[in-house]
Amino acid sequence: MELQVKKDISLKALSTYRTGGSAKFYAEAKTWQEMHHLREFAKTQQIPYVILGDGSNILFSDEGFPGLIIRNKMTKMHIQGNLITCESGVNMAKMVIIASQHNLGGISGLATVPGTVGGAVYGNAGIPDVYIGDVITHAVVLPEGKSKPMIVSPEYFQFGYRDSKIKKNRDIILSATFKLKLTPALKVRSEINEYSKERTLKQPAGKTCGSFFKNPGQFPSAGWLIEQSGCKGLKVGDAIISEKHANWIINKGNATSTDIINLAIKVHGIVKKKFNVSLEPEVQILPNSPFK
Ligand SMILES: Cc1cc2nc3c(=O)[nH]c(=O)nc-3n(C[C@H](O)[C@H](O)[C@H](O)COP(=O)(O)OP(=O)(O)OC[C@H]3O[C@@H](n4cnc5c(N)ncnc54)[C@H](O)[C@@H]3O)c2cc1C
Repeated sequence: MELQVKKDISLKALSTYRTGGSAKFYAEAKTWQEMHHLREFAKTQQIPYVILGDGSNILFSDEGFPGLIIRNKMTKMHIQGNLITCESGVNMAKMVIIASQHNLGGISGLATVPGTVGGAVYGNAGIPDVYIGDVITHAVVLPEGKSKPMIVSPEYFQFGYRDSKIKKNRDIILSATFKLKLTPALKVRSEINEYSKERTLKQPAGKTCGSFFKNPGQFPSAGWLIEQSGCKGLKVGDAIISEKHANWIINKGNATSTDIINLAIKVHGIVKKKFNVSLEPEVQILPNSPFK
């Protein structure tokens, strides 16, 4: 198998913040075998690797990533009865729309969550109405240290709020199957429009990864804590705490990853001082997070 590994690729186009340095190595995987071989390549080179979906939850440092970025380009889909099976590189909106063309729904809200099926399963993405972990029937993963795929049940993932076991065991998610409900295509379309309208009303546009911090249990939300701490509109360089949604950090134009991280550290400190709450980032900061 010939692997196309490129060197010194800018990460700016690969994260929705549009910031970051360069990756030492970059390659795309279209099959599970390529995923496996690329992971082996990283291990042989003794460098870190990351599986990249659409980069809607990753902030790469300005120093770049000193290893291999494996971009997930596995995008096959298959529908049987009320089940849809998607390879993990399938975009979430695309999955919902294709399913709707077969009069399958029940997951309209997920169409408005950016990113791939793999990224969604990794972090149990969703909205209060529906999380990806609620509708998964089984999945195929390539476990860390193994060379053959394995079928796993939903319980395997130990889904929690923005959490799954994959965050710890570092399996590669290859595909996932979801159980949908018979729903007329037009109904799904109109539901997607409603969810999209609601987002436009409540959430700012711009270069962002959405919510920066996870909601801590005992308070209404991270956004509420940040707003009550007077941080709306706070800026570092071109990074700003949105006036529309206080948990969103926006790159107004030419923010660097350092600006975004310094702003997040500032907000973290202000909230800690006012409420004695240590906010935990939802966004993955790579290769090293300053939040421990
Ligand atoms: C505007 C905006 C709004 C958002 N709103 C929401 C929301 O409402 N709800 C919500 O939950 N999230 C939301 N997010 C965050 C983001 O959409 C989710 O976290 C999404 O699931 C990330 O998917 P991705 O493909 O972009 O993952 P990436 O950002 O590429 O990767 C995220 C993590 O997943 C891992 N990963 C990705 N694919 C695989 C795989 N195949 N196998 C193993 N690990 C993998 C990566 O290594 C990385 O650690 C929002 C983001 C934006 C930009």
